[in-house]
Amino acid sequence: MTPDTPASSAAAHEMVCEAETPAEVLFVCPEQACGRRVVVGKSHPRLTVLTRGDFRARHVGSLGAIRIDGLKTA
Ligand SMILES: [Zn+2]
Repeated sequence: MTPDTPASSAAAHEMVCEAETPAEVLFVCPEQACGRRVVVGKSHPRLTVLTRGDFRARHVGSLGAIRIDGLKTA
């Protein structure tokens, strides 16, 4: 399903939506060794990190119009 990613600093983890409210979405990283969790605001482009997880990995994820592409924290 996902292309093979080398076990290097360029690893990319695809986050999945675990919970959703009218205002926010909780994304979690399914990688066992990582477990990153973030909350993304819907109306404001805001990202709150709950669990840092594997800080070196690039995290991506999307749900509808919401997209995470790793470094946007504005
Ligand atoms: Zn991860």
